[in-house]
Amino acid sequence: MERKWQQRLLGDLGWLLVAGILLGLFTDAYAWSLVLVLALYLGWVLHNLTRMLRWLLRREQDKSAPPEGVGIWGDLFDAMHRLQQRDQQARGRLKSVIQRIQDSTAALRDGVVMVDSNHCLDWWNDAAEQLLGLCFPEDSGQRLENLIRDPRFAGYFARGDYNEPLELRSPLDDQVRLQYVITRFGRGERLLVVRNVTRLYQLEQMRKDLVANVSHELRTPLTVIRGYLETLQTHPEGVPSHWLRAVGQMEKQTERMGDLVSDLLLLSRLEGSDDGVELRKVAIYPLLNRIVTDAAELLDDESRIQVDCDPSMGLLGNEPELHSAFSNLIVNAVKYTPSPGNIEVRWWQDSKGAHLSVRDEGVGIDPLHIPRLTERFYRIDSSRSIATGGTGLGLAIVKHVLLRHKGVLSVRSVPGKGSTFSCHFGGESCVTLGEAAG
Ligand code: ADP
Repeated sequence: MERKWQQRLLGDLGWLLVAGILLGLFTDAYAWSLVLVLALYLGWVLHNLTRMLRWLLRREQDKSAPPEGVGIWGDLFDAMHRLQQRDQQARGRLKSVIQRIQDSTAALRDGVVMVDSNHCLDWWNDAAEQLLGLCFPEDSGQRLENLIRDPRFAGYFARGDYNEPLELRSPLDDQVRLQYVITRFGRGERLLVVRNVTRLYQLEQMRKDLVANVSHELRTPLTVIRGYLETLQTHPEGVPSHWLRAVGQMEKQTERMGDLVSDLLLLSRLEGSDDGVELRKVAIYPLLNRIVTDAAELLDDESRIQVDCDPSMGLLGNEPELHSAFSNLIVNAVKYTPSPGNIEVRWWQDSKGAHLSVRDEGVGIDPLHIPRLTERFYRIDSSRSIATGGTGLGLAIVKHVLLRHKGVLSVRSVPGKGSTFSCHFGGESCVTLGEAAG
């Protein structure tokens, strides 16, 4: 193709030269003859250029075929026509793809909102209008934070860590729960997907209420049974001797049930409120001392618990909740460390925040089990756990308390050598206490 038009161009130039020479032979003025031939050729080029421009401008409206052209101009008109047809087909295909994407996104039951790099609304589907109350065209170009005004959403949006979805009440209806998931794309743009999770939330709420209510209702009968069993134990003369062992066992089991009910109630309370925890300055040193004194009663003479803690370093948090979490870790270390064994409790602060570590020289944990330890009732060795009086809820409580304090739990362990359970709190939770705190 390329050769063809090059040959044509060379041919045209050749003919011009021949025409100029022939005219020169007749007129005996070669230079003027060549100028005249070239001027005529230039006029022909300009004429074709004008036709092409006119056709291009007209094509935007009437899509007519290109004008007829001679020689190289014919090739040029045909090539442009082919290019335009190809471009038109590609544009048509792209348009239909975009249309299909828009139709399918509009048909989604989940709200989809596209937000540009300045956090302004670019596009959204019908479901987003229903779920978030967006209006077209008024809200187009508005900042997303101005339309979803919950500070928790603003915090989530600004933080930029979208691994976990955010669940909040709907801005339009208190009874509706919405889940927000954000994904980054393009150059700083974000895609927000909003899902109505009210049904799931209600089911989860029903489960929590059921556990909380059953646990609550079990407390009274358990207290009565425990009372009678204690009475029987304090007056063994009224009990046939072959029943005494059974009464002892019954008391032990009711005590276990009592612990289970208390742990279940505590877990329900921790899960119950969305609004986070009321933060106060907590003096960690006396808190750890109280827990360690209680835990030491479970130890024999050959084992030790050592506390390494600066009394001036405190934490912003909820004292009873922190007590439950720390005491679960320390009591676990005692339970799962055979005698003789040492346990070390450390509380310190550094540039990353505040940390508590509980290190023991006990049975250790196979790495296989570590990711599942904080699940409710997850036990590595059920018989050992029950023998040590465990409810299987201790680490689940630790996890929930840490979640409410924006902290994380980490576990390092070597089977047969011991384990270290550490709680890490962010720098914003660190406080320094006055003299009186120690
Ligand atoms: P439990 O009441 O059974 O101790 P937890 O939730 O406190 O329940 O702990 C879950 C499981 O994790 C326990 O059954 C035990 O197997 C394991 N575990 C917890 N702490 C330790 C520890 N310090 N050393 C070894 N295993 C531990």
